[in-house]
Amino acid sequence: MKTNEIIDQELQYGAHNYHPLPVVLEEGRGVYVWDVDGKRYYDCLAGYSALNQGHCHPRILEVLIKQASQLTLTSRAFHSDTLAPYMEYMCTVFGYEKLLPMNTGAEAVETALKLARKWGYKHKGVKENEAIIVVCSENFHGRTISIISFSSDPQSYKGFGPYTPGFVSIPYNDSEALREVLQDPRVVGFLVEPVQGEAGVIVPDTGYLSTCFDYCQEANVLFIADEIQSGMGRTGKLLACDYDEVHPDILILGKALSSGFFPISAVLSSDEVILSINPGEHGSTFGGSPLSARVAQKAVEVLLEENMVQNAYLMGEMFREEIRKITSPYIKSVRGKGLMNAIEINAHHNIDAWQICLLLMEEGVLAKPTHEHTIRFTPPLIIDSEQMTEVILIIQRVFGHLPV
Ligand code: PLP
Repeated sequence: MKTNEIIDQELQYGAHNYHPLPVVLEEGRGVYVWDVDGKRYYDCLAGYSALNQGHCHPRILEVLIKQASQLTLTSRAFHSDTLAPYMEYMCTVFGYEKLLPMNTGAEAVETALKLARKWGYKHKGVKENEAIIVVCSENFHGRTISIISFSSDPQSYKGFGPYTPGFVSIPYNDSEALREVLQDPRVVGFLVEPVQGEAGVIVPDTGYLSTCFDYCQEANVLFIADEIQSGMGRTGKLLACDYDEVHPDILILGKALSSGFFPISAVLSSDEVILSINPGEHGSTFGGSPLSARVAQKAVEVLLEENMVQNAYLMGEMFREEIRKITSPYIKSVRGKGLMNAIEINAHHNIDAWQICLLLMEEGVLAKPTHEHTIRFTPPLIIDSEQMTEVILIIQRVFGHLPV
């Protein structure tokens, strides 16, 4: 079966909750993917930043195969010999006392929200059922009912009510708005993306995160960083919060924590916060499985040992510098940090971001629009300067051939 037949089959039998580019992939290695006709592409989406270490990283694949042949799942009803070392490793690398393992990003966000509420009732003295969590407009934290309840994007929330109460939304990159809402003593947490990914790679001002963190400290409110997309080296530091030297009270990781093999997420925090939840009060059948513990530990080791974080910083500088040199009426702005970048498109001659992505695809670069006018470029962090040069040349060529 070839491209069109496979796409038709998916449309016939699958839910229409995505709008993929018309390409059918069958293989991935490093920064490359191949379609069913054998054509090679640069994967500049990298599984929405889940593939920071590249497709099928051999060292991670090796431990995956070994562990999958030995013991995959115990459930948390029993201990396994891989979970404890993984938890210690993660706490050491990221500087926390405890870790709570989950699977998808949305589950980890839900976990952080539950932890903040529980902590608020137990340690801050907030009256039961009155806790408030502050969030930012244009956020993206996942797709569960509670998470979409505080989304400002109608595509995410419309038609899915009634919504979960207990959230207050303030503008992103506005620390004074945070200071104001923190006057309410019922606030227990502030949930923020250090760089907003799905909103179109929105980078806040330097000092925004540290000011917010200071305000949270003064108000005895937990600073909760959703680094599911911005973490794991994506922005050229291990965490995007590192740019502001902020150590979040609660850190949420996902996506590249598994290097794209299967969903692995984690919530890290202090004893006080994590131990707010007692046995039986929260959990997941697959979270913390022997297989996920081995894979996640290796995914972080590989990221650090193979200098991917530093590479992301350098390749990101190169990308923005070169793309900003392109003069095109279609390019409104280029922004980003490390290898989390976006080109903001001016619709011109009825050509929009989607059509530009189709042209990029034809030339061998896969990228996807986020919202109408933004193309996000988030290749694996292992991309080297030669490969980056080729990606940049393709982008230049595509913009150069558009009608002016
Ligand atoms: N949080 C952020 C910042 C994200 O970018 C995403 C996914 O794009 C999520 C949470 C949700 O993760 P998942 O799709 O694994 O549930």
